[in-house]
Amino acid sequence: MGFARGHHTGLWMILGSLFVTLFLAAGCGRNDAMAESGSTVDAPDAAISAAVTILSPISVTLTVTPLATNRAEPAVATQPATATAKATPSATATTADVSLTALLPTPTPTATPLPTPAYAPTPDGEVRTLRVPVLMYHYLSVPPADADIYRLDLSVPPDLFAEHLDRLLAEGYTTISPYELAEALQRGAELPEKPILITFDDGYRDNYENAFPLLRERRMQATIFVVTDFIDEERPAYLTWGMAREMLANQIAIESHGRNHAGLAEKDDDYLVWQALGSLETIEHELGVRPRFVSYPAGEYDQRTIDVFRSAGYWAGFTTEQGTEQTNAAPFELERIRVRNTTTADELIRLLSLDW
Ligand SMILES: [Zn+2]
Repeated sequence: MGFARGHHTGLWMILGSLFVTLFLAAGCGRNDAMAESGSTVDAPDAAISAAVTILSPISVTLTVTPLATNRAEPAVATQPATATAKATPSATATTADVSLTALLPTPTPTATPLPTPAYAPTPDGEVRTLRVPVLMYHYLSVPPADADIYRLDLSVPPDLFAEHLDRLLAEGYTTISPYELAEALQRGAELPEKPILITFDDGYRDNYENAFPLLRERRMQATIFVVTDFIDEERPAYLTWGMAREMLANQIAIESHGRNHAGLAEKDDDYLVWQALGSLETIEHELGVRPRFVSYPAGEYDQRTIDVFRSAGYWAGFTTEQGTEQTNAAPFELERIRVRNTTTADELIRLLSLDW
């Protein structure tokens, strides 16, 4: 009986994967073709060349999935399907959603200091609103002399960052991970008395070079939202996967900021799946841990963005909306506080004391 059931499940997962692979491949290829040609027209030629370019992803999925299915057998037997269903209460629960879940490999149990449960926190029907500030940093370095106003505004020098951290500790704040925040919002898990998240958008290399040592020597946690294509392309201003792995092993969560930093508002499902699942799978492949949180590039998102990211297995999303009130009524619209080049330690504490 057990074998028959497993066999049946495996077959469906393979079929589901095939379906979604083709579904994804169409979207993925189209976007690649669009990016390359600079055209927004959906030319048939683009679809054909896309079909060629995605041949290798197909073969990878086909060979990997049956193995993953075998390994996942105990998990399938012990984890009721309702857990997934509850975690993705998307109004658009379609075949694609189910197949997406089948496509995603079961998380490999990798040793990591961050608590990353293999299941989504299950909402118990209770609406919880918690006051948990989430600081948003970008560059963590002295801006170059020729920096424009944007670069200047986004850059916090290491000395100032150290002051921020010391002041937060002196004021009694405890840094937490986004996983702890999700557990608290969704299941009422206890948080330290003055919880705070430190987040970095974009995944600049100076986060590793300058912020990481300062955080590490104070045993503080942080979260970095990375742009996966930029790391894959080995852009010198951005992290490497090696740096990301080292930080992940030391209290730094590595989560998604999309594939290429394009805005995620007013986009179609194919494109959003490409961003959501593409960045998720890359991070999981490189780090062995599936990301569960997204920070919307440039703060741009809409309801469709939320639906697709939720369906792809994300638990929550961070916006650039200013505020400190987080609620599980809108887990994909978490608020943050922007930290600027001009934000002194005093100013930071003042911002934290505001009734947003
Ligand atoms: Zn960004």
